[in-house]
Order: sequence, then structure tokens, then C-alpha cells
Amino acid sequence: MGSEKSWGIIGGGIMGMTLALRLAQRGDRVTVLESAPKLGGLTGAVEMDGVVWDRFYHVILMSDLNTRNIIREIGIENELQWVETKTGFFSGGKLYSMSNIFEFLKFPPINLIDKFRLGLTIIVASIIKDWKRMEGIPVEKWLTRWSGKRVFEKIWLPLLKAKLGNQYKDTSALFIWTTIQRMYSARKSGLKKEMFGYVSGGYDKINTAFEQKLRSLGVTIILNSQVQQVTRDPNNKVIVQTNLPDDYQFDNVISTLHADISVKIAPSLTKEEIDKHAAIRYLGVVCPSILLSRPISKYYVTNITDSWPPFTGIIEMTALVDPAELGNRSLVYLPKYVEPGDDLFLKISDELREYFLKPLFKMYPDFSDKDVTFWNVSSARRVFALPTLNYSEKLPSIATSLEGYYIINSAQIINGTLNVNETVQVAESKLMEILDNQ
Ligand SMILES: Cc1cc2nc3c(=O)[nH]c(=O)nc-3n(C[C@H](O)[C@H](O)[C@H](O)COP(=O)(O)OP(=O)(O)OC[C@H]3O[C@@H](n4cnc5c(N)ncnc54)[C@H](O)[C@@H]3O)c2cc1C
Repeated sequence: MGSEKSWGIIGGGIMGMTLALRLAQRGDRVTVLESAPKLGGLTGAVEMDGVVWDRFYHVILMSDLNTRNIIREIGIENELQWVETKTGFFSGGKLYSMSNIFEFLKFPPINLIDKFRLGLTIIVASIIKDWKRMEGIPVEKWLTRWSGKRVFEKIWLPLLKAKLGNQYKDTSALFIWTTIQRMYSARKSGLKKEMFGYVSGGYDKINTAFEQKLRSLGVTIILNSQVQQVTRDPNNKVIVQTNLPDDYQFDNVISTLHADISVKIAPSLTKEEIDKHAAIRYLGVVCPSILLSRPISKYYVTNITDSWPPFTGIIEMTALVDPAELGNRSLVYLPKYVEPGDDLFLKISDELREYFLKPLFKMYPDFSDKDVTFWNVSSARRVFALPTLNYSEKLPSIATSLEGYYIINSAQIINGTLNVNETVQVAESKLMEILDNQ
């Protein structure tokens, strides 16, 4: 059992819920302070014309053992569905299937030698173990070394620009390493079939079961409570002020909020700490989700190498999820990753509709506005930290100069893409670090 210390967890996303679960299982007293009316954060749901599903697309991989462990612990493992999915590529105005080695060999935009180099690059990235070395090499340099200039310009550069904009210039090869490692683990072997999973009912079901589990372990969950300040009082407690009238006192507080807010709410932190957190560069996302009267393709993911579509890729959820879960309509996400200050965040819904749907109908001329039965836009200004050169060496520590105040957020993922599995892993490993040092 634990020391029965009291813990305040700021933020009730996957990170906050995982921290709360592990602490409560030790027998400690835990309170989760969440500004939204529901737990879940980025995995939260939106209601779309009677259909409740994730506001941002989510998929679970067979290799996501941490995520699957949580799903088992909260008692909904039997709701997990596994499906074989396909991947598409939109290149030179045409759509290609890219779901196995034969389709890859037939892929016309590049010649056979270039295909060999592209395939080799993917294989090399999948077998490299030393992620630390990848962190010190610019992504452009590494990809050009293995794929050659032609393949870099034709395939990699558009994909990098679609996901990272011009920030790809400051990104390390770790970005491509983590992406390929995750993609590879989705497939049974090599460029063979990919199996993806989801929980029936989406992440809304996971978040609801997670909340019930936490409450059953005695965790106090305070929703609609926006944390505004964290200080330390003379009695050695950490004091948390929110928008609600009462202040809260804890032995320890962990903020799971992104770097900028985590330091802003703790005014006593040193300039050095604040600068270290401020140096973390985030990318955000503007992500329309639309319901269509019929499927747009058979691909879960369609990657895009043409520069004109304004979205990073197309995610067709109903190529994975049983359409019956979604009112027998097709759910499509059109994510666009952008910098936190991008003008796209300021556009109103009608402007975004025109901006995203016009190019979609250009890509799929059989579709028009009348096929769109519902339109929604979800956005978040800070989603994932850009893996800049030697990122892990520049990261601030999780302990701060405000005794008892810790910052554990997804920026602490140093050798993985942003996903729930990595988030759970960071929560568990960083919590062990705190407990070992107390
Ligand atoms: C477009 C997109 C696609 C994704 N696809 C996948 C996928 O396919 N598979 C996968 O595994 N993962 C995916 N992810 C990643 C996954 O959603 C994240 O890894 C995970 O949700 C991060 O959880 P978190 O708790 O770190 O952050 P968050 O979810 O951001 O949680 C932070 C919480 O803090 C709350 N908060 C903010 N300010 C305050 C305050 N002042 N006081 C109190 N509370 C506050 C917020 O409301 C939020 O609930 C995707 C993410 C996005 C955006």
C-alpha cells in the first residue's frame, strides 16, 4: 500500500487518468481537476447528428500493450474489435492502394530503382534500434541518404510538409523512425496486412469505464474546474486555485497540461525552468469530421503526396469501425496539422467547410455537398511536441523548483509518436521516478 499521501492531478485526459489510477491502486488519496465537463481530453467525443464518436480519430494497434492493459483493467476488453484495414495513396491526382508489397511494386509515381530505395529506407528504419542516434540527424539528411534526392522530393518531402509544414527543416530523423516503427508494428510482418483495433462505442466508452474505475477506487473527480494557480503554503502543502470558490491542498500535485500552461499556472518557477518549457515547440491540429451518406474509399488512411489538398491525409473511420456504430453513414476526418499561431484556428466553421470540402470533392469528383449529412470541426492548438534535433537532451525535468509540483505531459514522449500507448507508458514510468525519489 502507499503512504496515503494526497495527490492533485491537473487534467483528466489519458495521462491524468492513468496517474490517478496507479496512485489510487497504491492506496493514496487522489483528486483529478479537469476543466471540461467530461474526462478524456483529446480522446473526448463529439455528438454528430445522433452519432457519438471521438472528436479526433483514434485507432489501437495490436502492439499497444499499455493501452490494451488499461482497457482490460477497466473491464471492457471484450468490446475491443480487430479489423484488417487498407492504406491508400493519393499521388499525381490519382488514388492508389498501398496495402501490400505487390501494390507497392505497382505504384506508378516512382520507378523500380526508386521503389527499391524507398522500401530499403523503410526496412532500415524498422530495424534500427538506437533511437538516440536518430535524434542527432536532420530528417531530410537521413531520408535523402537512404532514399536518394528524387524519392525524397517526390514522396518524403510532401508527406513531411503535410504533417509538419516548414518545421520539417528543424525536425530530427527520430520523427520518421518513430512513425515507421509504429507503422511496422501495425502489420503482422513486413509490408503485409495491417490489423487495427477500436473499442465498440469509441473512446467515449473507454473514458466512461475509466471514470467508473477511478471512482470505484475512491478517486475524487472535480469536473468544470479550471486550474489557475499552483503555489506552496507555509504548512508544506501545495495549494491549487481554480475557477471554483474553494482552494485545494495536496502533498503533491502533477500537471499533465502542455508545457506553456504548466509553467504559467506556477508563477514561482525560475526563469530557467520557464525557458526550458517554453522551448518545446508544439504543433496543433484543425480536424474536420464529416458524415457522408456513403463511403468515400476503402482505405482507413489515405496519404497524400500532392501539395494542393489542404489536409495532411484522409482518415475514413468506417473503413475500420462497423458503419452500424455510426448510423450507417461514413465518418471521415480531414486533419490538418499546423503551428499553434496559424490563422486556420481563427477561421469560422463556414470558411473551413469551403476550405476543406472543395479540395475533397476535387479529389473525389463523384462526391458533392449533398453527400455530406453532418459537418463538425474540432481543433487543438498544442497537440504534439516537435522532435527537434537532440530533443531528449533539452527536455526539462519533471520535478520543479516548487517542491511537490511536477509536470508530466506528452512532451515527455522522447522516442515514440504521440499516441495513447506512449502516454500511458510515460505516465507510469515518470510516476515511478517520482515515487522512487520520495
Ligand atoms: C488528431 C489526433 C489523432 C490521434 N490519433 C491517435 C490514434 O490513432 N491512436 C492513439 O493511440 N492516439 C492518438 N492520438 C493521441 C491521443 O489522443 C493522446 O496521446 C492522448 O489523448 C493525450 O492525453 P493527455 O492526457 O496527455 O492530454 P490531453 O488529452 O490534452 O489532456 C489534458 C487535459 O487537461 C485539461 N485541461 C486543460 N487545461 C486545464 C486547466 N487549466 N485545468 C484543469 N484541466 C485542464 C483538458 O481539458 C484535458 O482534458 C491522437 C490525437 C490527435 C489530436
